[in-house]
Amino acid sequence: MPDRKVIYFDNNATTRVAPEVIEAMQPYFEKLWGNPSSVYRFGNQLHQAIETAREQCAAMVNADPREILFTSCGTESNNTALHSALVTNPGKRHVITTAVEHSANMKFGKHLKQLGHDVTFLPVESDGSIDIHLVEKSIRKDTAVVSIMWANNETGVLFPIEEIAAICRAHDVLFHTDAVQVPGKLKMDVRELDVDFLSLSAHKLHAPKGIGLLYVKKRTKFSPYVFGGGQEGGRRAGTENVPYIIGFGRAAQLAMESLDDEQTRVRKLRDRLEDGILKTIPRTVRTGAKEARLPNTSNIAFEGIEAEGILLMLDQLNVCASSGSACTTGSLTPSHVLTAMGLSAARAKSCLRLSLGLYNTEAEVDFVLEKMPGIIAKLRGEHGHKHAGKS
Ligand SMILES: *Cc1c(COP(=O)(O)O)cnc(C)c1O
Repeated sequence: MPDRKVIYFDNNATTRVAPEVIEAMQPYFEKLWGNPSSVYRFGNQLHQAIETAREQCAAMVNADPREILFTSCGTESNNTALHSALVTNPGKRHVITTAVEHSANMKFGKHLKQLGHDVTFLPVESDGSIDIHLVEKSIRKDTAVVSIMWANNETGVLFPIEEIAAICRAHDVLFHTDAVQVPGKLKMDVRELDVDFLSLSAHKLHAPKGIGLLYVKKRTKFSPYVFGGGQEGGRRAGTENVPYIIGFGRAAQLAMESLDDEQTRVRKLRDRLEDGILKTIPRTVRTGAKEARLPNTSNIAFEGIEAEGILLMLDQLNVCASSGSACTTGSLTPSHVLTAMGLSAARAKSCLRLSLGLYNTEAEVDFVLEKMPGIIAKLRGEHGHKHAGKS
């Protein structure tokens, strides 16, 4: 069990490293710490371990292992995909993305704009969904790549990636998807999706921070982002982070094994938590589509208060949750995702994100459900409420 006292409902920010993953990594710190590029066996025997991890990661998304490139994080994978698409299409200067991407994609888009590229940030509907006709209409002769996330980290809203990929193919434009929030939560099949690039990050999947991967479709032209040694077939330089790659592989294997059961289990927990809050606390509204959504994520607006206050009171109870995105915590700017959905600044700041995971239990959900009405009543200044003052 995780630290017994902490109730961690912030699994879209990061996840606890699974004990099985730590166990798989351990030998690569203690005994097998060589450099995989060395000629002697103490080093180069690690090649086989890396290739096994690559196979495990490939299996999780139904890719060929040769299509998997290990990187340092999800952010690097995103940046690499866009960079490659532009370098391999030198005549094309237009990029299409959305207004609700993770900063790991959006900030690179803004950077490209500063470098003189044309970047379209597509708007979304009030439920966070995207109009795919708008995607098609935005494609131009000089569009090099379309980059649209699969699942939103703040609301859990899913985009129809397979349909968007088909549109891009029909127009001969490369397609990248930031799928960092998807593994362990939904089935992934890159062959079915037929995308050119897909980014993942290990720390959202019960493996350590600082390791990611980029799927690059076999016949998609590729140009590296990081230059140096010949690692990863010359496609991503830098000595391999062997223990973390091994951990990523093990986490992928575990995610595949538990996916079917876990999807149903976590959805039940999330629905119990969400329905409980919406039912017992007045003036609460779900943010984003109900159905086309990750099974673990709930985003709820609490009218009249700021989520920041809820977070502080939850923290007193050792409950971890999130408002907006973790990257902007402490700043007063409302989430760009929620404002892109048309929420006012005040409404956006009233939104609380609860994201569940593998280690959460029904008892934890019930504890939070018991405490929430009192917290909200207190913050709304509803003295005399039957729950107020209890905590
Ligand atoms: C966490 C996250 C990232 C960034 O991954 P890192 O490994 O932390 O760089 C990118 N996109 C989404 C949707 C995320 O949730």
